[in-house]
This record gives sequence, C-alpha cells and structure tokens, in this order.
Amino acid sequence: MDAAYQGTKRNRHLKVLVNPKGGQGKAVSAFRKKVEPIFHAAQCSLDVTYTRHPKHAYALAKELSLDYDAVVTVSGDGLIHEVINGLAQHTQPRRALTIPIAPIPTGSGNGLSLNLLGIEDGFDLAAAALNVIKGRPMKTDLFSFTQNGNRHFSFMSQAVGLMADLDLGTESLRWMGDTRFLLGFLRGVLRFKPCPVTLSIKVAERDKVKMAEYIRSVQPKDDEIHRQEDQLDQPHDTLPPLKHSDLDEDWISLDTPLLYIYAGQGPYVGRDLMQFPVSLPDDGLIDVVAQELTSRGDMLKAMDEAEKGAPYWMEGQHYFKAYAYRVTPHSLKGCLAVDGEAYPFEEFQVEVHPKLATLLSP
Ligand code: ADP
Ligand code: MG
Repeated sequence: MDAAYQGTKRNRHLKVLVNPKGGQGKAVSAFRKKVEPIFHAAQCSLDVTYTRHPKHAYALAKELSLDYDAVVTVSGDGLIHEVINGLAQHTQPRRALTIPIAPIPTGSGNGLSLNLLGIEDGFDLAAAALNVIKGRPMKTDLFSFTQNGNRHFSFMSQAVGLMADLDLGTESLRWMGDTRFLLGFLRGVLRFKPCPVTLSIKVAERDKVKMAEYIRSVQPKDDEIHRQEDQLDQPHDTLPPLKHSDLDEDWISLDTPLLYIYAGQGPYVGRDLMQFPVSLPDDGLIDVVAQELTSRGDMLKAMDEAEKGAPYWMEGQHYFKAYAYRVTPHSLKGCLAVDGEAYPFEEFQVEVHPKLATLLSP
C-alpha cells in the first residue's frame, strides 16, 4: 500500500496561475509584491502562468504535470472552477484531483478562501500565502453539474434567480470589488421577480433544528490523502438522464414561486453572507436553499447578521441536505451561475461526488 501523502513537505513545487483580470484587476501587482516574496522565503519552486483568456487555466490544468505539490490560483472562485474542471478532464482525473488547490484571494468573489481561512483572514494575502506553504491537504466533495448532455464540476455553488443575477448582472461594476454583490442583491429585492422553475430534490434531511444541532457536534479530523489513486477512471454519475422525468419516490418537488435557489457548500459564499451554515466540505451531501417570495422587508431584515447565517432561520427559506437535485425552468429567460460563472438557463441536475477534490487548509 502506498504511503499516505502528508502534505508537510518543505520547499513545495507550485504551479501558480495568476488571473490579471480577476476582481479589481490588481492580481499581478498583489502577487509580485505580497505573495511571491513569501513563497521565495519558503524556498518554494514556482512555475507561474498569467492567464491570457477565459479557459486558459482550464487548458493548463487538463495537461498538468502530476508532480506539483499544489496548484495556486491568484484570482477569485471562477479560476478555481476552471482548474477543477481541467483536472477532471485530465488523462488521470482522480489522481490529478489529489493535487491540492490553494487560493490567493484577488477576485471579487473569494468564497473558497473565506471558507479555508475564515472571515477575518479570508481576504488576507499573507494568510493565504502561508496556507500555500504550510497548509495540509483536505478532501472536499465536488458536485457534478449536468446540462444538455454536458457535465461539469462545481466546487462551491449553483445559483438560480436573484443570487445568480447579483453576480452575473454586475460584471460591469468590477471596480467596486465585492460591493457589487450587495448592490445586485438590493436591486434583486427591489425587482422581486420570481424564477419560474420546478425544483426536485433527493432529500437526506430537512429539519433545520436537527441540522443545526448536528453541525455543532462535528469534530474536525485529518484526512489521509493517497496520491496514488485509481488513475484512469472518470467519476461516474448515477442519476437517470435529464429527459427521464420519473424520479424515484424519495425525491420531492417544489413548484411554489421562488426568488432564488442557492445550492452548494460553504459556509460562506461572500464576506457578508453565510449561506450554508450547516454545510460540511466532505459529508457527501449538498445543501440546497430555496427562498420563497415572502416580503421585501423580510429579505432586507435577514441581511442583518447575514454573515452569521441569519437567513437560515428566515420565514420562507427552505433548507435541505440532499444527495442530488434537479431544476427544470418553465421559461427561456433567467439567470444561472455555477461557482459564479455564467451557464445557460436550461434544465440541469446536480449529484454529489464525495471527497473528489483536494484543497490546502491551515
Ligand atoms: P472574480 O471573482 O473577480 O470574478 P474570477 O477568478 O472568478 O474572479 O475570474 C473571472 C473570470 O476571468 C473567469 O471566468 C476567468 O475565466 C476569466 N479570465 C481569466 N484570465 C483572463 C484574462 N486574461 N482576460 C479575461 N478574462 C480572464
Ligand atoms: Mg467569478
């Protein structure tokens, strides 16, 4: 049997991907001034690429040499989405996905960094750089996202309706940093437009009190990461194909008008929103939130202490732990974001793949 990969190696060999266009466009100078010196001081060997176009990071990850100790993304969540999908298309996908990914937060949405480093340090470049040189590998679930015969992987979230529009609809306001999400949220609450979809869920748990109690009792543990995994097989989905409308009896359906659906893991999706307070990175489940159109006042009230997870207890916010779910739109117009990246507003389904990817964690 292979020795467990402990991830405690000194002088790490790093593939660094810098997105000059992420966030407010300051990634290059932030990397050179604040991050690279820390890597050099730790005697890491660096192989740096500045991404030149969307999908560049995807293409590099797909062909990545498997001897790197980590892939470092100097950008936001969008670049991590590309890296994960590139690794999943590698000739040795499972093995490629054991190479840990570590974010340096220079995007506007830095959800992964917030979840790894915490809300105090989530946007701190030095804390993120230290995690790259000292962090330990940690397994995380991935979500396969299938739409129109194509499969992608999502590491963080899928959003439909308001919560997708607040990101995709504010791209022109990148100069604002993550304030653009707040503005997008307020605009969405003013518009208060329902998204016409059916949401079907293969539910594991839906009792909010039970879920909150459970999360308080969970102890963190160290993962044993084996770098020599089954190499060539692709992770398989088990759901019936999309056009197949007969889902098993253990699925439930919601047809009530919804303001948004937000599914994924966290707990944070942004500095001011703990959307998934009872999620765990490796429980083999996805947290699915379905927000009814209650009142604008309730929506605004829940923003108070949203960074502490207040919306979880909100009237009209359904919260499920699920094995899988499916969304069927009843209109051609709408907004869908996967890890903050735009996807067509068409029927899709999502299934959890436990512990498929690897991250570095303090
Ligand atoms: P942000 O949080 O600011 O959105 P992301 O990491 O999500 O930052 O990156 C945003 C997008 O930038 C991603 O979709 C990525 O594909 C794209 N991208 C990467 N390199 C470039 C480039 N050189 N020019 C334009 N877009 C790029
Ligand atoms: Mg993005």
